[in-house]
Amino acid sequence: MLRLTGKLLRKHGWRLDRAAHNYIYFVYYYPYVRTLYHLLRVLAARFAWLRPLRTIIRMAFDRYHAKFLSGSDARKILTLDEDVRIVGERNRDIVPYRYAHSVIFNNPGYIAVMDCPCKKTLGATVDTLSSCICVGETTARFWVERLGKKYNARRISREEALSIVNRFRGMGYVTQAFFKVATGGSTGVICNCHPDTCVSLKATVFARRFDPGLSMAADAGYAVHRDSARCKHCGACAAVCHFGAIRFVDGEWSLDRERCAGCGLCEEHCTGNAISLIIDPGKPLPLDIDLIRGRQAG
Ligand code: SF4
Ligand code: SF4
Repeated sequence: MLRLTGKLLRKHGWRLDRAAHNYIYFVYYYPYVRTLYHLLRVLAARFAWLRPLRTIIRMAFDRYHAKFLSGSDARKILTLDEDVRIVGERNRDIVPYRYAHSVIFNNPGYIAVMDCPCKKTLGATVDTLSSCICVGETTARFWVERLGKKYNARRISREEALSIVNRFRGMGYVTQAFFKVATGGSTGVICNCHPDTCVSLKATVFARRFDPGLSMAADAGYAVHRDSARCKHCGACAAVCHFGAIRFVDGEWSLDRERCAGCGLCEEHCTGNAISLIIDPGKPLPLDIDLIRGRQAG
């Protein structure tokens, strides 16, 4: 256990503060997330006028954030068969925040799942709790061996991880990869999120009371293309979109590209096979492992 904890913390080098933060974050995952949620909620409700708070919230948003993943991009991460280490400033055009944008998966075949602290905080139903997935041995093993009993953490196969993501996406949950300075600046945690039960998505809503430009989640990087000949005007795409990006105006299908997060749910729920995702040059690049490996090689 000590060896495992040491391995988790060593990635922070001389930054003992980050190592301690990393340890506290996971060992007290649920109270940590719950406390931050209620703190931000109260601050947004009562102190949105207080200018110094904006600076503090911006600093926090620079250190912790998420990236929407399409179903395809999530599945590529869950089926990685070799280590991935893509670090550097260039990743900021994928995860466009100041810090924490490294893409590192060590031994990605080691995958764990545990109860999601956001869903526990926000009263989600019991059948949706087991949804927070960790890819990569160092952190995933720490979850299993240190947090197994506490947060129902357990090792799962790739097939089970895929089936969790597919099940949640089928229910209309988006997929997000989380990046945090205190966990080494890299992703590894991938969760299945709903705006009603995701603290990160709610944090963006609260933070926009201080600064409308703030977002804790970077767009996936896709735009939606609809084949009008195939479209049956059933409305399933608009119904599944959490961001109000698809609407029917005078009976005509329309997309608000700015609102679209590129999550891909509309594509997967389309009853006419009429929707496809295309890279949106106006958005950050997708966290598509093949694409970022290719540009690294090029
Ligand atoms: S239109 Fe909505 S559901 Fe479709 S990709 Fe964009 S955000 Fe996701
Ligand atoms: S779900 Fe597909 S078929 Fe239905 S309205 Fe949307 S694009 Fe058209």
